[in-house]
Amino acid sequence: MSAKTEKKNLRLCQIFKSLSGEGLRSGYPATLVRFGGCNLSCRYCDTKYSWNYYHNTSVEEILGDERVRSAGFIIIAGGEPFYQCDEIFRLIGILAKSKIVEIETNGVNLFDNIKKLYGALDLSDYKKNIRICSDYKTEESDEYARGALDGFELLTEKDCIKVVVQDFGDVDLAEKLVVRFRRTNVLVSPCYGEIDPAKLADYMIDKNYLNLKMQIQLNKFLWGDGNFEK
Ligand code: SF4
Repeated sequence: MSAKTEKKNLRLCQIFKSLSGEGLRSGYPATLVRFGGCNLSCRYCDTKYSWNYYHNTSVEEILGDERVRSAGFIIIAGGEPFYQCDEIFRLIGILAKSKIVEIETNGVNLFDNIKKLYGALDLSDYKKNIRICSDYKTEESDEYARGALDGFELLTEKDCIKVVVQDFGDVDLAEKLVVRFRRTNVLVSPCYGEIDPAKLADYMIDKNYLNLKMQIQLNKFLWGDGNFEK
């Protein structure tokens, strides 16, 4: 497609190199592609700047970025990456041909989005390279029940559900997801500044939870609230 006819209808917030801070691949070096705009407004959101800070760009421009071209592992994040036009599915499909691609989604319309993603033309061979990390929103997020239970049925052992927990009741809720959606992984992440990670760890040990995994926000642990772009 020529530069003149490229569709510049993806809302790109930023691209940067970093370590993956969340999900099953936490700790791996990655290039993060963050899209702008979100269809939720969680109370604890730490990327509020992305709601309105973005510029329009095309699939081809993103693919041409050196940080994207050189990466073996791409994280597609937001905002909400699926709160974009359908060009997002084409972008992920192309990236997954040669890279591992993790999508961090809030879970809204997850069922439809996964169907669209895996239904995209010539994506099927590369499905194995795609990982989905979907939120499950608790009551304290102020966005309870706008997620994703239907879509969770489509997740597999390479995907995960992430629950940002603010109290121990949320951890018990996450355990219920483990029981209900055995094919995937459920991670609990302590809400930054609201629940002591050490106390959360003690609680999980006391309860002797099977298959419920704790994660901390690695980038915040390493770099605090500062800029973790590299
Ligand atoms: S879904 Fe994510 S990006 Fe959107 S408001 Fe909630 S925490 Fe922020």
